Amino acid sequence: MAKFTDFNISKETIQAIEALGYEDATKIQAESLPLLLEGKDLIGQAQTGTGKTAAFAVPCIEKINTGISATQALIMCPTRELVIQVAGELKKLTKFRKDISIVPIYGGQNISVQLRALKNSCDIVIGTPGRLMDHMRRKSLRLDQVKYLVLDEADQMLDMGFRDDMKDIIGQTSPERQTVMFSATMSQDLVRLMERYQNKAIKINVTGNKEQSQQIEQLYFNLKSSPKLDALKRLLKEYNVKSGIIFCNTKMKVDELTKRLVHEDYIAAALHGDIDQKKRTRVMGAFKAGNIELLVATDVAARGLDINDLEVVINYDLPRADQDYIHRIGRTGRAGKKGLALNLVTGKELSQISRIAYTSKLTINPAQLPGVQGTETLNSDSRPSNSGGSGGGARGRFNKKFGSDKSSSSGGFNRGPRSGGGSGGSRFKSSDSSSSSSGGGSFRGKAAAGSNKPRRSNFNKAAKSAG
Ligand code: AMP
Repeated sequence: MAKFTDFNISKETIQAIEALGYEDATKIQAESLPLLLEGKDLIGQAQTGTGKTAAFAVPCIEKINTGISATQALIMCPTRELVIQVAGELKKLTKFRKDISIVPIYGGQNISVQLRALKNSCDIVIGTPGRLMDHMRRKSLRLDQVKYLVLDEADQMLDMGFRDDMKDIIGQTSPERQTVMFSATMSQDLVRLMERYQNKAIKINVTGNKEQSQQIEQLYFNLKSSPKLDALKRLLKEYNVKSGIIFCNTKMKVDELTKRLVHEDYIAAALHGDIDQKKRTRVMGAFKAGNIELLVATDVAARGLDINDLEVVINYDLPRADQDYIHRIGRTGRAGKKGLALNLVTGKELSQISRIAYTSKLTINPAQLPGVQGTETLNSDSRPSNSGGSGGGARGRFNKKFGSDKSSSSGGFNRGPRSGGGSGGSRFKSSDSSSSSSGGGSFRGKAAAGSNKPRRSNFNKAAKSAG
């Protein structure tokens, strides 16, 4: 394990790292720190939760020349949440460097606050492309002295339609700059774009080693005919969830689901792009403080959320883009902690989840919904298939890719909860007993002890007003 003291980092930054409690460098940090400190251009493929922020933030701090009064480093992020998170990490890492100024700029914040901040000295600017362009047009931001440029979550910036803004912004920075790009996925399009702006960039990839995803137990529930809301409630009860994110694909669905959950006395709040910044900040504050248990969110809103104690990520809908799956589950199992990702799957989502597992090299085990008899799964146990109809094709493809039915005893993809025998720390008993009627009698777990008592509905007032 590499230590931060192994690298050429100033004692003030080392002190700040120690104050943050980071003992060893993560893999992405160990690989990228020496290159970035040396001044190399870099393409880092890493998902959130790997420690990538500190990987580019530490060299950024080390490169600031406080003798110059100009913006010397620029970090571009797709969303305001990520801007705030990155700025927060930079502030913590500069705890003992009061001579370095950091200015986050993003849409949704009063522009006059940003104008004032930019007028004073700002060594490091972190911003969303839209608001950066706005300041460039107003001439409140000059980038010609920017010698350290980071594009964080570059794939998402492209997906969000920021291509032209990105090009314009990069074009304003110093031609002698060092250019760093981090992305969870690496499309041809992105690689081609970066070829234009980087110089002999070195590629590192920490997604393939599954360092983080191995920390996350991933299960999917093939719901066949069970309604998703019912399935969700069973899982919330089974896992006694106290801190989780539930992902939906549309703002409308987020609102609808939040309403239903709050109505049923869950302490839930919504997070999506139509909710104004003040409310979002309030929701996040309440969630981090543990006053909201469930955050129902769209992908864009959840980008950049820095939450370390998230017990579970639930995909109520699978993401529209497969690569967002990794981003979503990266909210749990961060920095060495054990995480849990639960996927509610119906219809076409069945083949989508197998594709995601295959292309991202993930292990996503099938599991049975608590208290539901005969839920069809893609499990490899010996029960004969009676799926028929459209499910059969997906099942065939799935098992071909991940080992046949008979492979269950030897572990691998199909080593699911139903195979009993202590795999993966599952809380499930074997499937035989799953036929009991109500109350999740076939499952272990805290909730099965039967807590139907009303939840703390007073919290919902806060959650409701926040959401
Ligand atoms: P990131 O991938 O940058 O979003 O980081 C994920 C989480 O890991 C953040 O909460 C960081 O504070 C934390 N983190 C970053 N580097 C380390 C480290 N070397 N040791 C422990 N935690 C870390």
